[in-house]
Amino acid sequence: MSRVIVIGGGLAGMAAAVSLEAAGAIVTLLESRRALGGRAGSFEDPQGGEELDNCQHVLLGCCTNLIDFYRRLGVSSLIRFERTVYFRDGSGRRHDLWGVEGWPAPIHLGPSLAGFEALTWGERISFSRAMLAMMNLGHAGRDTLAEVSFGQWLDDHHQSASLIKKFYDPILISALNEESRRASARYAIQVFQDAMLANADGYLVGLPNCPLGQLYEKIPCRDVRLGTRVSGLRFNDHRATGVELQGGEILEADAIVLATNYHSAMRWIPPELASADSRFGSLDKLESVPILGVHLRFDRPIMTESHAALIEGPLQWLFRKDAEGRVLHGVISAAREWVNVPKEECLRQFVKQIHSLFPAALQANLVRSQIVIEKRATFSPVPGVDRWRPSQIPPPGGVHNLFLAGDYTRTGWPATMEGAVRSGYLATEAVAESLGLKQIEFLVKDLPVQWPARVFGLKPLPHRMEL
Ligand SMILES: Cc1cc2nc3c(=O)[nH]c(=O)nc-3n(C[C@H](O)[C@H](O)[C@H](O)COP(=O)(O)OP(=O)(O)OC[C@H]3O[C@@H](n4cnc5c(N)ncnc54)[C@H](O)[C@@H]3O)c2cc1C
Repeated sequence: MSRVIVIGGGLAGMAAAVSLEAAGAIVTLLESRRALGGRAGSFEDPQGGEELDNCQHVLLGCCTNLIDFYRRLGVSSLIRFERTVYFRDGSGRRHDLWGVEGWPAPIHLGPSLAGFEALTWGERISFSRAMLAMMNLGHAGRDTLAEVSFGQWLDDHHQSASLIKKFYDPILISALNEESRRASARYAIQVFQDAMLANADGYLVGLPNCPLGQLYEKIPCRDVRLGTRVSGLRFNDHRATGVELQGGEILEADAIVLATNYHSAMRWIPPELASADSRFGSLDKLESVPILGVHLRFDRPIMTESHAALIEGPLQWLFRKDAEGRVLHGVISAAREWVNVPKEECLRQFVKQIHSLFPAALQANLVRSQIVIEKRATFSPVPGVDRWRPSQIPPPGGVHNLFLAGDYTRTGWPATMEGAVRSGYLATEAVAESLGLKQIEFLVKDLPVQWPARVFGLKPLPHRMEL
């Protein structure tokens, strides 16, 4: 039996650990915190003692590997999928985007887009033209745009500043954690192709019915060690022999999956090995982008819908966290300019915005609030970013039994929960091959491209070709 150590109990490490167990390895999952989940985890609120999410996490119907991972954890029923995406404009007026049940993509969204009054008629037509162009590109075409900014693509396709602000920004800034114009056109187009254009289930908004931490409570992995910090890796020539824990204990392994973020991954590889292993050569080029999340509790109900994409800022998305609508969670992605703003000033601006969105809020008092700014939330998916993202698999001459997992590795996805799970599955497939374990294909296929999308030219690449 082969012994594998997985370092890091975020989604990438958990996905690797669960799939490695299924492949027949003896797995030890080491996590420095007292709970699993990493960035997609929960913490205990020091003020009220309740379990709060690090930040609201949203998945979409096109996140096929994350959905598969929740199935393996036995928690699929705790994820609620919504068929309507609620937008609110600056004056609080609601604009709903919904798909007609039973209709294939992309025509399922046609009726609601036609009536989407946040956009002028001209903007709706212009957006439809851009969607046609994105379908025409297919998946192969979007890959050729990896070095092009989406701003350039939007200009080339005559998308106005007002249309970008009202429709592209609410979707893309949160999906990519980057300004729409600054992101790579490849990743921006992927969001639309996968979520809106290929399959009618792609856009469904998935929200957990419980704190994120509860999803991981019954992880099918026998040896999970929480509160166990790895302080370093042990090497013998081009082989990792084990890990050293903070207390000095050494754990030996046949293979190691390093599933921390890229900042830790860089620290543990000695320079002579890093220079021979191309995966570590460009990690310092990845730029981290912050996300701000705010938990708000009011003394009376404010919000009726489960979520709202906000066309005017500063908050970009709001989520209702309780049945009555008193507890809300707001998010600002690509929140660079908020990092140094005093908390009181942030709150003042957020409450002002909520007053303008919901009339009921004018009488309400804010009874509790908590702002969490994750400075290193995700890497920026700028043009050319994939050149710096490492493979999970050791290159020839690299550390041959050290595998990487993490949203930053090369997954074909931006930094998301789906990307993290993909990386874990890919790492397991490579470990299984190198140790002669059961060869199981863990990576789940994308949703199939439906016939109208194919007619409009949306041709997918074969499974795994985008990696
Ligand atoms: C604020 C915020 C909001 C987000 N919103 C969304 C969203 O709505 N939808 C979405 O899909 N994605 C979202 N993301 C992105 C998503 O959370 C990440 O892409 C994903 O969780 C990354 O998982 P990971 O396993 O790669 O890394 P991590 O979650 O960072 O996991 C790494 C783990 O390694 C552990 N570790 C580090 N060092 C050590 C050590 N020395 N010893 C042992 N363990 C160690 C860490 O404690 C951590 O648990 C968001 C991210 C943030 C920060």
